[in-house]
Amino acid sequence: MPHDRFDLRGRVAIVTGGNGGIGLAMARGLAQAGADVVLSGRDAAKGAEARGAVEEFGGRASFVTADLSRPEDCLRLVEDAKRSMGRVDILINNAGIVARHRPEDLNLAEWQSVIATNLTSAFLCAQNVYPAMKGAGGGKIINIGSMLSLFGASFGAAYGASKGGLVQLTRSLAVAWAADNIQVNAILPGWIDTAMGASARSEVQDLEGRVIARTPAGRWGKPDDMVGIAVFLASAASDFVTGAAIPVDGGYSIAG
Ligand code: NDP
Repeated sequence: MPHDRFDLRGRVAIVTGGNGGIGLAMARGLAQAGADVVLSGRDAAKGAEARGAVEEFGGRASFVTADLSRPEDCLRLVEDAKRSMGRVDILINNAGIVARHRPEDLNLAEWQSVIATNLTSAFLCAQNVYPAMKGAGGGKIINIGSMLSLFGASFGAAYGASKGGLVQLTRSLAVAWAADNIQVNAILPGWIDTAMGASARSEVQDLEGRVIARTPAGRWGKPDDMVGIAVFLASAASDFVTGAAIPVDGGYSIAG
C-alpha cells in the first residue's frame, strides 16, 4: 500500500467519453492524482482539446477516436491504450447517450443504440481490459450509472434499462473478478450540469426546478463533484470496496 492511498502515479486509466462533461472532469482528477490517461469519444476535435486539458497536470495523455457502440472500436480502444501506455490499470466506462421518448414512441433503433453505447460497450471494454489487469495483479473498473439506475421515468425506458443493467453488470464482474484483485464499482451521479444535463432541462418540463426542490443540497451537480469518488474508486484507498453502486447526488436519492 503506497503511503498516499490516493496516489495514482504509475497507473494508466482509460476514460470512455472522456472528451467532455463528467468524463473529462474525472480524467483530469485522475491525472492530478498522477495517472496517465487515455481518453476516447467520437468527436476528435473535442478530444484534442480534452487531451490538452488533461496534460496540464504533467502526465501523459492520449485520445482515441472511437464509436463504442461498435464492438470492434471497444477492442481497438483497449489495444491502442496498451500499445501507447504499456498497461491498463483503471477503466472508467462513462460514455453514454440518452433517447428521451415515452416507451410507446421509442423505436427499436433508438433502444439498440442506447443499450449498445451505455451497456454493451461497458461489458466489452471490461472484457477487453481483463487479461491485462489480471496479468498485472489487479485493476479498477468504474461504471457510470445514473439516478435512473434506481428510479423509473416516463422518458427513460432505454436509458434506465441500460443504467440499471450497468449496476447488475458491476455486481457480476465484481464477484467474478474479486479473486484477481480487480474491484468493480458503479458511480450513480445525480443531475449534473453538462451537455446532457442541458438537453434534459430543455426536453423535460420543469426539470430544473424539480431537481433543485428534491435535492437536499439545493443545487444541480457539477462535473467536478464526481472527481473525489472517481479518484477513490481508482486508487488503493478502495481496495476492499467492490460491487458497490454509490450515489453522488447531493442527497437526491434519499430525499422523501
Ligand atoms: P456528455 O453528453 O457531456 O458526455 C457524454 C460522453 O459520451 C461524451 O464524451 C461523448 O463523446 C461520449 N459518447 C457518446 N456516445 C458515444 C459513442 N457511441 N462512442 C464513444 N463515446 C460516446 O454527458 P455527461 O458528461 O453528462 O455524461 C457522462 C456520463 O454520465 C453518461 O454515461 C451519462 O449517462 C452519465 N450521467 C449523466 C448525468 C447528468 O445529469 N449529466 C446524470 C447521471 C449520469 P462524443 O460525443 O465525442 O462521442
